[in-house]
Order: sequence, then structure tokens, then C-alpha cells
Amino acid sequence: MTTTPRTALTIAGSDSGGGAGIQADLRTFFACGVHGLVALTAVTVQNSLGVQGFTEIDAETVTAQIKAVAGDMGVNAAKTGMLATAEIIYAVARTLDEVHIGQGTEVPFVVDPVAASMTGDSLLREEALEAIRTELFPRANLITPNLDEVRLLTSVRVTDKTTQREAAKALLEFGSGWVLVKGGHMYESPECVDLLSDGTDYLELSGPRYETENTHGGGDTMASAITASLAKGADMPGAVAEGKRFIERCVAEAYPLGAGVGPVSPFWRLAPN
Ligand code: PLP
Repeated sequence: MTTTPRTALTIAGSDSGGGAGIQADLRTFFACGVHGLVALTAVTVQNSLGVQGFTEIDAETVTAQIKAVAGDMGVNAAKTGMLATAEIIYAVARTLDEVHIGQGTEVPFVVDPVAASMTGDSLLREEALEAIRTELFPRANLITPNLDEVRLLTSVRVTDKTTQREAAKALLEFGSGWVLVKGGHMYESPECVDLLSDGTDYLELSGPRYETENTHGGGDTMASAITASLAKGADMPGAVAEGKRFIERCVAEAYPLGAGVGPVSPFWRLAPN
């Protein structure tokens, strides 16, 4: 008998290098057994050496994509990645309310507050960060900033577990249900410790730190794996634990591609080993 999988929607940009953005989201959704839906926000021109530029999609087209798939196919969970402009962010927030996605609805919504690539190239026009804070965080069941994004959003500089907890508290003030403060960029630490909190519980998720240069798309892949788990019905701590296990293997098996930073790899989930 044919079974229709659960669906997950990504509202994000395209990476011509295929390692981050919607390409990372779709390959993660596939590897996690959910059907991926897409609302494209921007087309980036990039390779392993960095982002050479991007063109945003107009806000009406972004909105129309979300409505088209939500109305017909149904969305079991959604996430955002690169949103490019404040105008797109405002349009996405309004549309999510219309199609009943996000906090207070049946459909969980994850916000990965993407501001720049790991090569330091901006993926967001100015003033859009404030729109992410005010428009998206209150609608999000989970936000997943890395330490650079934490600093941009709160001005807290995370260097240890105490400041990581401080950052979680500051970020929850913006209204999301949960926050995951990812510690992967705390390079002094021998482990990757992420902190998940809803303001009541503070859960530390600890994992190994792998020696690799190839971590392109890591943030997108983890947020997508969490979103896939939510789409399949996991609760938040369960989905984040699942996402963490998934990204660990993807980093462990990341491969070189091009002269710069290669992508993390979800192939392990498909290949027999
Ligand atoms: N390009 C796009 C379209 C993205 O969405 C992202 C991250 O979300 C990146 C590039 C940057 O990825 P990384 O920081 O892993 O290089």
C-alpha cells in the first residue's frame, strides 16, 4: 500500500553550491523521511569560497508559494532559513498566521535566524534582523541561533555555560516557545554543547567535536532535521535530540568539495555501512 509521508516546509534561499539553503533542507528532509515543500526567498550565487551575491524573490511570490502548498498539500512543520529582506519577513509572518502555522497552532515552526554565511558574507539586508526578532520569534516554537547570531541578536557574548544560559534567557524574552543556543562555535570547548530551554527547563545536549573544515550547511541541516522530527510528531526535546544525533553524523562524514569549505553530509542515512 502506498503511504503518504509527513510534510515539512522550508522558507529559505537557494545555495548554488548545493550544501546549504534549500538544498540542505531538502536533502535532510528526504533523508529523514518527510516530503519537503519549498517557498524560495532568494537565489544566492556561491561556491565553497563564499557568497558572491544574491537576488531576492519578491514578497508576493514568497507568500503565494506558502499559500499554494499549505492550502493543497498541508504542512506538518515549517522552518525558515535565509529570508533576505524585512519585506519578505513581514510577508512571511502575515502568511503564517493566515495558514495557521506557528506557536498557538497545530503546526510547529522553527526559525533559524540566518544572518551571514560562515565565510562572513551577509545573507540579510540591513534592518531585517530587527524584523526577525519582532515578527518571527513570537511565532516560533523554536529558534536555533549559533553564537554569532546570538551576539547580533542580544549582544551577549557566549564563552561558557553561564553566558550560554544568559543568552537563552535573553532570547526567550522575544517570545519563542523554546530556544536552542548552539555551542558549536565555542571552539575552546572540547565538546559541542547546545543548550535547549523554554525558560523552565534548561537541557544540555552534549556531543563530540569533530576535526573538519567542512561544515558548510551545518546550521540548516540541524534545523531541518529538527523540523522533520517535529513533522513526524516528536515533542521539542525529542526532536532536538534527534536533530543533534543527525547533524553529528553529518559533520563526522562531511566531505571536501571545491577549494574552500565543503558541505556536511546526510548521505550516511541512505548508504548501507
Ligand atoms: N547560503 C544559504 C542560502 C543559506 O541559507 C545559508 C545558511 O543558512 C548559507 C548560505 C550559509 O551556510 P554556512 O554558514 O553553513 O556556510
